[in-house]
Amino acid sequence: KANRKFHPEDTVITLPGGQKIGGGTLALIAGPCSVESEEQICLVAESVKKSGASFLRGGAFKPRTSPYAFQGMKAEGLELLSKAKERTGLPIVTEIMSAEHLPLFDDVDVIQVGARNMQNFELLKRLGKLDKPILLKRGLANTIEELLMSAEYIMAEGNEQVLLCERGIRTYETMTRNTLDISAVPVIKRLSHLPVIVDPSHASGINWLIEPLAIAAAAVGADGLIIEVHNDPSHALCDGAQSITPDQFDSLAKKVNTVFGTV
Ligand code: PEP
Ligand code: MN
Repeated sequence: KANRKFHPEDTVITLPGGQKIGGGTLALIAGPCSVESEEQICLVAESVKKSGASFLRGGAFKPRTSPYAFQGMKAEGLELLSKAKERTGLPIVTEIMSAEHLPLFDDVDVIQVGARNMQNFELLKRLGKLDKPILLKRGLANTIEELLMSAEYIMAEGNEQVLLCERGIRTYETMTRNTLDISAVPVIKRLSHLPVIVDPSHASGINWLIEPLAIAAAAVGADGLIIEVHNDPSHALCDGAQSITPDQFDSLAKKVNTVFGTV
């Protein structure tokens, strides 16, 4: 179902609010790694909206390497995302870690499956029963073929609204958190009709690399970018080193739109 051979036209995903992903537009999804407070999420939501973001990201259930690290605000975080959505009109993108939490996700517009759950097949099958877009992130050490097969798990259950996300893969290089596989974008677009989103934040782990990688993604034909933006990166509870400020996001948005318009 994800294969372009049987579905030559690009899939365009349209949200109830009219926001589109795919079909010649560059969707900007921006917001903090994690929801931390009402003030923080609303402030970031309002500023990224002004800069042209059409979706708000923010983690409430966080897959952290250490069980002692901040695990997210969970249900309360989802409520704060809803408040920010009410205030700005921006649809919400947030990660699900367990199908058990699905009843809490009614107001979530796009459900993210994180890199660590890309092959959680039971979760993928449950999400396949929904009528809601799923942002599926490539696993830390998964091939493009495996990513497409995971999309297939969701689509086989009936939900064909899948967004594929290249978020960097594990390589021997240690200068960056992961290595952005930029060629994954044109490769996936050749193999599949599904929209491709690039996450330069988790790919690099470094704030000054976000803009050049975002520009590269726009240049190779990505349909969207998901970017971590925090009002006070040095005090962020998660992923501060890779978070950019609202001002930096504003300048990035202008540049990527210029690049996207010329390709
Ligand atoms: C995130 O988006 O905050 C996240 C945890 O991403 P990934 O699953 O790509 O590591
Ligand atoms: Mn993060």
